[in-house]
Amino acid sequence: MKIAIVGYGRMGHTLEQLAPGMECEVVACLDRDAHLDHDSLAGAEVAIEFTAPAAAPGLIRTLAALGVDVVSGTTGWGDELESVRRAVDAAGTGLLYSPNFSIGVALFRRMVREAARIVDGVDDYDMHLHETHHRYKLDHPSGTAVALAEDILSQSTRKKSWAEDPPAGPSDPEVLGISVAREGHVSGSHVISFDGPDDRIELRHDARSRNGFARGALRAAQWLRGRTGVFTLDDMLDAQLGKR
Ligand code: NAD
Repeated sequence: MKIAIVGYGRMGHTLEQLAPGMECEVVACLDRDAHLDHDSLAGAEVAIEFTAPAAAPGLIRTLAALGVDVVSGTTGWGDELESVRRAVDAAGTGLLYSPNFSIGVALFRRMVREAARIVDGVDDYDMHLHETHHRYKLDHPSGTAVALAEDILSQSTRKKSWAEDPPAGPSDPEVLGISVAREGHVSGSHVISFDGPDDRIELRHDARSRNGFARGALRAAQWLRGRTGVFTLDDMLDAQLGKR
């Protein structure tokens, strides 16, 4: 399928590199100075947009008005979602957006929710989350760790809230502890542990590069073809893997 890359930065370049291997032909790479119109989009069926929060809503509205479906990976524009939704619905096009396009993370979150639900019934097993990222990362805990913590809380009657680095002394059994490490060049590692008196169970996700985000976005572009309305990555996985 023919795709336009809108936002030719780190993600844009990664998309360009991986697209041919996923049956996607890149017909346009557009960055900040490009004017979006039928000529510059060169017959693209879907635009994959990774730009900046201030730019994304306007770009999506323009692309919808031009009749082009959009996969949007830009983070931080959620407060404009309703006006974007109206524009996409009015145009009769499709939009799939996600702040994290890693299929592995999406699968991991489903596994963690299921595991938390199962373990919840056995009081002996405590739950804990540990995340590691490279030493340049500014925020903590990671957005993925927070999402995982909320996944666990949604399934647990025993954990009521999460907290980073529980204080010294016994930890509150109703608080899910998140420990954080910053070291070397780690792309992102998240470990959920269920620790009982006699043994320990761990679920672990390790990201190796940004390729996972690009591959997820390309897969979403293919799924979006022929669909109208606004979708998230979960909608795609619900359709492909079955709802839960
Ligand atoms: P980047 O800064 O490397 O690239 C962004 C590009 O967008 C730049 O080349 C910039 O010039 C261009 N741009 C800005 N405004 C534009 C406009 N109006 N029109 C066209 N191009 C414009 O950033 P990046 O690492 O590629 O990330 C981009 C966005 O994607 C960020 O919001 C980031 O948080 C997000 N991101 C999301 C995922 C995900 O899985 N959803 C993964 C990685 C990054």
